[in-house]
Amino acid sequence: MNFDTTKFKVWTWKHPLMLHWILNPGLAINELFLGQRVPKVSLIEKNNNKSLAEKSFIPCPHCNTIHSGFKWTPQNKTAFGNWFGLYCDNCGGIIPCLRNLTSAVLLIVTFPLRIWFVKSWKKKWLETQKQKFSKPLKLTTPEYNWVTQGLSFGFFMFVFMELIFPLFDGEGYKPMKLIIGVVIWTLAGLLFGYVMKKLMFNQQRKNSQDKTQQAT
Ligand SMILES: [Zn+2]
Repeated sequence: MNFDTTKFKVWTWKHPLMLHWILNPGLAINELFLGQRVPKVSLIEKNNNKSLAEKSFIPCPHCNTIHSGFKWTPQNKTAFGNWFGLYCDNCGGIIPCLRNLTSAVLLIVTFPLRIWFVKSWKKKWLETQKQKFSKPLKLTTPEYNWVTQGLSFGFFMFVFMELIFPLFDGEGYKPMKLIIGVVIWTLAGLLFGYVMKKLMFNQQRKNSQDKTQQAT
C-alpha cells in the first residue's frame, strides 16, 4: 500500500514509540490482558495545528481505507479487547498489529494449549467486533482526564504486579512491600496519565512556531 507522503508521515516499527511498544516488557500486560494493540503502520498527518491523537490515521491493508485513529478509543468501547488485531469496519478484515516481544514469547510458550481454542475464540471475537462497530462511532477527541486515567492505570498495575504476580513468584505478600507498591503505582500512574495527555492530546502549535522561526 502506497501512502501520500506529502500528507502523512508513515510510522512503522522503526519509530521510537513503536519500538518502545515492542521492547517494554510491561506492555505485554496491556496486550495480553487488556487486548490493547498498536497497528504495524500508522499515518500521522503533517499538520502542526492538531494534536497527535487528531492526526493519527490507521490504514487497512485489505481495503486501503484510511481510518481515523479515533475509531479505536474507550469512548467507542473499542480501545481494548483487540486480541486478534484491529477490526476494519469497512471490509471486515483484521488490520495487522505490532507484537510486544514479551507477549510474543508468552504466546509461543502457551501455543500448545491455545491451539485447541484459538479458532473458536477468533470466531466469537469477530462477531463481537461486528456488533461493536455496527453502532455509530464517535470520531472526535475523547474526554481525557489524565488524573482518572492515570490512577486507573496505576490501580490496574498495582493489582497485577503487587497482588497477582506474588502469587506466582512464591514470595507472598509483605505489608511494607504493599504500601510501597501503592505509593509507587499511584505516582507511576499519574505520571503515565500526564505524559499520555501531553503526548496525545496537546496541540503542537509550538513546534510550528519554532519551525517558522528557524525558517526566517
Ligand atoms: Zn479494510
